[in-house]
Amino acid sequence: MIKIPERIERIMEELRGLYKLRVFEDKDPYRVLIRTILSQRTRDENTDQATLKLFNKYPDMEDVALAPQDKLEKLVKSAGFYRVKSKRIKEVSHILMDDYNGVVPDTMEELLKLPGVGRKTANCVLVYAFEKPAIPVDTHVHRISNRLGLVNSKEPDKTELELEKIIPKTYWIELNDLMVQFGQDICRPIGPKHEECPLAEICDYYQDILNQK
Ligand code: SF4
Repeated sequence: MIKIPERIERIMEELRGLYKLRVFEDKDPYRVLIRTILSQRTRDENTDQATLKLFNKYPDMEDVALAPQDKLEKLVKSAGFYRVKSKRIKEVSHILMDDYNGVVPDTMEELLKLPGVGRKTANCVLVYAFEKPAIPVDTHVHRISNRLGLVNSKEPDKTELELEKIIPKTYWIELNDLMVQFGQDICRPIGPKHEECPLAEICDYYQDILNQK
């Protein structure tokens, strides 16, 4: 099996060949933050729907902070866990207005102080709003990194720390988006398409399956 640095080069080359980086039109930090909170434990389509409805009705931070709770719940319902999520986005909006002058912070340390913001959400804001190098580890990045044998970790936060040690910083910004597309398309949680995967020969998970046959 090839060594980790070469494996990483090969993975990035293949993923870059397969997928284009998706252009995130709305890089407004507040919207990225709220969208990411809404995206927790749900699918992209549901997040998109909830985000669109929310910002159509309440376009900015102050609107969301002052919106009645029941109205927010209705608007973000499609994202699931809508009671908790609507409470969080209202609370976050209040805190940003009161303590941060209406400006979303651009450091991990400050972002983690906001309710409902863990490392994944904070890293998404750093990458997708501020274009700072960071590795948001969602379910796809966690699963794929373990399957490929880049890390050996049960916790996404640990996966992030392990990936940061081995992935060159120049790849950090694109890693999440490329792996999410790969995870939705080929290396799916259930029924991964090993036969059509360009990384099969360097994948620990698949090589184990072959060795057991
Ligand atoms: S070979 Fe299978 S498990 Fe490995 S990366 Fe490809 S799809 Fe995922």
